[in-house]
Formats: sequence, structure tokens, C-alpha cells
Amino acid sequence: MSLRPTNLPLTAKGFDEEKIGVCFGCGCYCGYIAYLKGGNIVDVYGHPNDPNGMGSLCTKGIALLQELPKNPMRAKRVLLREGEEFREGSLEEVRRRVGKRVGIFLDRLTTDLRDLLTSLQLTDCVYSDAVHLPFRPSTLKPQSWSSKKVIVAIECDPVFSEVMSVRWIVDAVERGAYLVAVSSRFGTVAQKASESFLLKPPKVVRFLESLADAIEGKKAPEKVDKISRAILGLGDSLLLIGDTLLRTPWRGNVLSALKRIRLRTGIDYSFVGDVTPIKTKSLSDLLREATSLDTLILTGNPFAYINDTEPLEKTFKVHLTLFPNLTANSSDAVVPVRSFQEREFTGFRNGFGNLKTSGPVLSSEFWTLSDFLREVFGAEVPEDLSVPDLPPVEEVEFEGTEVEEEGIYLLVDRTLVDDVGHWNLWTHEVEREQRVLANERTAELLGGELKIGDLTLKITVNNNIADETILFPDSFEETQPFDPGIRAGKVLPDPDIRVFRYS
Ligand code: SF4
Repeated sequence: MSLRPTNLPLTAKGFDEEKIGVCFGCGCYCGYIAYLKGGNIVDVYGHPNDPNGMGSLCTKGIALLQELPKNPMRAKRVLLREGEEFREGSLEEVRRRVGKRVGIFLDRLTTDLRDLLTSLQLTDCVYSDAVHLPFRPSTLKPQSWSSKKVIVAIECDPVFSEVMSVRWIVDAVERGAYLVAVSSRFGTVAQKASESFLLKPPKVVRFLESLADAIEGKKAPEKVDKISRAILGLGDSLLLIGDTLLRTPWRGNVLSALKRIRLRTGIDYSFVGDVTPIKTKSLSDLLREATSLDTLILTGNPFAYINDTEPLEKTFKVHLTLFPNLTANSSDAVVPVRSFQEREFTGFRNGFGNLKTSGPVLSSEFWTLSDFLREVFGAEVPEDLSVPDLPPVEEVEFEGTEVEEEGIYLLVDRTLVDDVGHWNLWTHEVEREQRVLANERTAELLGGELKIGDLTLKITVNNNIADETILFPDSFEETQPFDPGIRAGKVLPDPDIRVFRYS
């Protein structure tokens, strides 16, 4: 469906042009109308005819659409490192310094499917932080969630990632759905749930495995049995799974439990978060292969998840970035990148498995990753943008591991502020000071502080966090402007594993 401007403008502000675009702040892909004056967005509204946003945009989307392009802190010039300082440079100078053995890291916000496919043509060392799923990430569109009779959300609150899709869950509840939230932290879904279970991450995994047992007719705790009876009795059920547990050693356990439940019940499922149908290497692969690379092209802020960039010391690092963040400060060259509304963008990294393309709404003299790779390396940019047709989950094999439930767990995860958020005063207000969160009992057990090595962070007591769980928001790092913090990588033993035993 193609959207056009409305007959009557939605804004009261003066404008000379209106343009239609898609927000790629998450996989909801909300359509919007931007009102432009002098080439700048002066107002933005969700498009009333768009089936995804249905006329609404979330605060993250509004901040990205309206404030990010003109953010005064944006990187605007090509910079080259000279000792501890940067000086203004040119793309030609960058080109003279790159080598042949190239690695490329792709983020979710500034790189699209075209950039990924271009990168894969150039090198086999393509990295990202997305979780690869070798099967269809969703059996239905999020709009169809609202007709479900039973919804079980496993470590999944879309309000932290695919924001507007929460409305389809709320719709389902208003139509009488039985909603169950099982998670190590509670958000909107738990508030709306008929039943909610606040459990530390390994217990969430065990809960899902017990649900698979119960559905197969095996013995399970009564509270789990009740949910299995609802699924078997009412049919028309949905399992929602967030990407968090897929970044743990229990990924195989989660996927194999989903498969078992689906084989018995044909249940629908949707993943939520940053998942990809095309396999890339991971951050720990990047660290392992670092010494074999002579050039590394980076987007996003991957160094926020890495404790020590020492293995990359000798690699020439070029960072295509929106902001002078931690990764930019650890790179040898900085190149300003286009934001998604300043280019043609095809979004593909999302749990719903949908592709969506939007044309540019704003003009820009900055670079896309594909343009950069073409100009600097002569890379060919593919015309055909498609992703493989993947099998359903039941056709793929998974292997679980033993789930150890003892101890206190540290969970490094996103909050309402994502990694761009602290470059914007408005969203920074949501999370002004870096703290970790834990419930009263856990905070007391830890003496009110989290200590890892020489790092100490105060705990904010929040009883929406499971017992024996500490939430470390991953959006802080050392160079953000309003309230610098400590990057998540300082506490992560492995950049790909975001839940680990603390004590
Ligand atoms: S939910 Fe928010 S961030 Fe996601 S596409 Fe819609 S407006 Fe953008």
C-alpha cells in the first residue's frame, strides 16, 4: 500500500512541502507525514492511513524523525586521527589508507539491507549485533496479535523495542484474551497481563521449558499446567519471545521449547527485537579475527559492548557515524553517515520478518555505507534486495544446555532510551543518571551497589525487576554528552552474551 499526503494538513505550522516516509526506529515501520520548511522538518505526524502506526508515532520515533537530523552534536565532517586529536580530512585520504583485508560492522539504525548485501559482496568478514534466526521470525503480522485468545510473552515487552506493537497486545486483552507475562522485568505487557511471573532469566527459560513439558503431557508445576490447558483448550494462541534470551547460553533451550510447543499445538509465534534472516558474524568473532583485518568499517556504537579494543589497535578503523560516540573516539577516521530519513532505506532487521522501503524525506551530503564502500573500495551495490525464504521453526534443529538457576544474574539490556537517545536531551531526560536496577531484596543483598572489578554503580531499587536480577541499561557510555557513564562492555565477559551469573 502506498501512502499519499492527506487532503488537509495535520499541522498548524507553516510549511512549504509535505513528504511521506517510514520510521525505521524499530520493526513497527510506522508511516509518517513530515512537514518541511526550508528543507527542515518542522512537524511530523503518524500517517492516519498507515496500518502499522495507525496515525501514531512513539516518542523514540518522534525524537529520531524530528530531532536527530538537526541535532547540533551530529558528526558533520570527515575527520582523521593525528595522535590523540582529530583533524579535518577527506574521503580521498581515507581511501589512501585502507587495506585489502576488510571487516564491516553493521548497525540497525543507519544501515539497511542494501548495505548488508553490498558488504557481503566485498568481504566474508561482515559483523553485526543482530541475532540470526535460521527460520521465519514470525508466523503472523503484529496486527493479527489482537485476535488471539491466549498470548504468552516470554522475556518480551515490545515497549522496549518495537514500541507501537504493544497496542495489538492491549487490543487483544480488551477483546478478552488471556495474557501471560513471564519476564525478568515488568513493563507494559505485565501491567495488562491476566497473570504475570517475575523471574530471573534462567527461571524464565525453565518456565518455557516446563510449558513445553506440560503441553507434551509431562508433569509440570500447576501454574504452568494452567497456561498449557488454556493453549490446548482455547487454541488460537501466540507466543511472543524477545531477543534478550537469544543472547544467552540458553538460546538453544528457548528455540527448542518453542519448536516443541509449535509441533504439538501449531501455535503462532513472533520474535521481537533485533533479529536477522541473513547470518553475519558476531562481536566476539570480530575480536577473534581482529588481528587478521587491516581495515575495519564500523557503524553504530559496537565498542560500547567491548571492554578492551586492544586487539584492534593495529587495524585502521573507519567509523561511519551519526555522533562522535565511543566508537568514533576509538577510530582512526570518522565519516558522517546519513540517517534513515536522509536516504532510501530498506529495513529488514526485525522480529516480524518484514521488509519495508522508504525514499528519502530529507536531503543530505553525508554518506550511506553502500556509497562509501562503492567510492572507497569499488564495491558493487546490488539491485535485487531480497532475503531468503526461511522454513518455519519446526523444521530446524536446536540444542539446549543445562540451565543453572542458582545465584544472582546481571542482565545487560535496552531500556526506553536506546544508544542514540543520550545524544538527545529530550530522551536523555528519561534516564538521566547511570544506575543499575534491582529489587529491594537483591539491592540489600548487594549492599546497595554493584561492584565489578574497579567499577562501582549505585543500585536504584525497582520492584519490577525479578529477585536476584540486576538490570544494567546498555545505553550509557563514556563519551555521551549530558551524563557520561560506563559502557556495558566494561561488565560483559563476552560481548555476545548479555545475561551472566554475577555471584
Ligand atoms: S514504534 Fe516508534 S520507533 Fe518504532 S517505527 Fe513506530 S514511531 Fe518509529
